[in-house]
Amino acid sequence: MIKSVVIAGAGQAAAWVARSLRAEGYAGRIVMCGAECEPPYERPPLSKEQLAPDAPNMPYLIRHDEFPELAVEWKPGTSVTQINRTAKTVVLSNAEQLSYDALVIATGGRAHLPPVPGFDLDCVHTLRTLDDARRLRAAITPDRRLLVVGGGWIGLEVAAMARRAGVPVVLAEMGSGLCARSGSRFLSSYLQTLHASNGVDLRLNTRVVRLAVSGDGGYMAEFDDGSKQEADLFVVGAGLIPNDEIAVNAGLHCDRGVLVDSAGRSSDPFIYAAGDVAVLCTSEGGSLRLESWQNAQDQGIAVGLSLLGRHAVYMPQPFFWSSQYDTLIQMAGTTEAATTWVMRQGQGNQQIHIGLDDTYRAVFAMGINAPRDLRMLRRFIADALPLDRWLLADTEVPLTKVVAT
Ligand SMILES: Cc1cc2nc3c(=O)[nH]c(=O)nc-3n(C[C@H](O)[C@H](O)[C@H](O)COP(=O)(O)OP(=O)(O)OC[C@H]3O[C@@H](n4cnc5c(N)ncnc54)[C@H](O)[C@@H]3O)c2cc1C
Repeated sequence: MIKSVVIAGAGQAAAWVARSLRAEGYAGRIVMCGAECEPPYERPPLSKEQLAPDAPNMPYLIRHDEFPELAVEWKPGTSVTQINRTAKTVVLSNAEQLSYDALVIATGGRAHLPPVPGFDLDCVHTLRTLDDARRLRAAITPDRRLLVVGGGWIGLEVAAMARRAGVPVVLAEMGSGLCARSGSRFLSSYLQTLHASNGVDLRLNTRVVRLAVSGDGGYMAEFDDGSKQEADLFVVGAGLIPNDEIAVNAGLHCDRGVLVDSAGRSSDPFIYAAGDVAVLCTSEGGSLRLESWQNAQDQGIAVGLSLLGRHAVYMPQPFFWSSQYDTLIQMAGTTEAATTWVMRQGQGNQQIHIGLDDTYRAVFAMGINAPRDLRMLRRFIADALPLDRWLLADTEVPLTKVVAT
């Protein structure tokens, strides 16, 4: 029976570990150590409504005043710097030592800043924390020109918010498509049209190689083809580096994140991991690290249950959403096994792109402004139901009638 749980990290996964422990009746000690000074909060709004001049209040996952109620000892602005597995203790950035019966690593990740000369200038922003969002919000003013480096989700959401504020935006992506990692070429070309029609100057196959102060108070970016672009503000959205150093230094099995089983347990049976920092080893011998809101919540809950000895098998179905301009984009599943693609044109501006495997079971679905249909398709993916591809493509046929008989 565990009597004390230490959580390294105070983000989304950490909050759900603590909440699920208490919801399941755990009465022992919970200490939550967070490098940031904010209580746990949700990050998706940071690249969306938090960049607007009239940003709403942050949706905290555990408010300041809830910590005593939940009996969680929160240590803000305090990192876990070292794990001593033999003594079952951690060392904190304030030199304090804490003992644990179980340790949860929920340290997320940090923004990757490529080693480009000039990326250390003040005009360069990354976006991971609420402080980053506040700084960027103050910098996005209509008299500035923005250059976004990276055509992934965060870069695109920032571009959309900047365009809404009337800021001229150039977006440079070194690959040949936007959000190419999603694996859907349809999505890439949809996003290209969406941003171009909203006035973003897209430069694909273009890498920024240098940034320097230009003569008139702005900055000049140089691209790999020798061309140049002047701007006042730069946002680099170039992916995430998992914060797994404490795990690596403690000798846990890691591979760009902490390797865990379906119970969230690492190679040390007293140490667990959840969220962006966790790499789930699948029963087929693969591995999966998800950077999504849904995963941080669900894996956090699963780890909470595992800590109490409940049988929690966490095998997620990837799910991600993004909102850009007035468009809601949702994706479920993965594209690797997709061999047949079906386009389902919904009502109005709805579009759905579905990937079927070679037995016509849905493995991937991407919806534009179609949350209801996506909910149903997520169920089809989870239940591995064979679908009739022709009925699926027929918008007149409701999704309830497309399961093959
Ligand atoms: C700008 C932005 C927009 C996003 N939008 C979406 C979206 O639209 N849809 C979606 O599905 N997902 C989105 N995500 C992803 C989603 O927010 C993350 O997957 C989720 O926050 C991961 O939760 P986590 O708890 O693993 O990590 P985090 O929420 O990052 O929390 C980790 C915490 O641990 C702290 N920490 C790090 N090292 C230590 C240490 N050694 N000791 C103590 N504390 C430490 C960090 O400072 C951080 O506070 C977005 C992410 C960002 C950054």
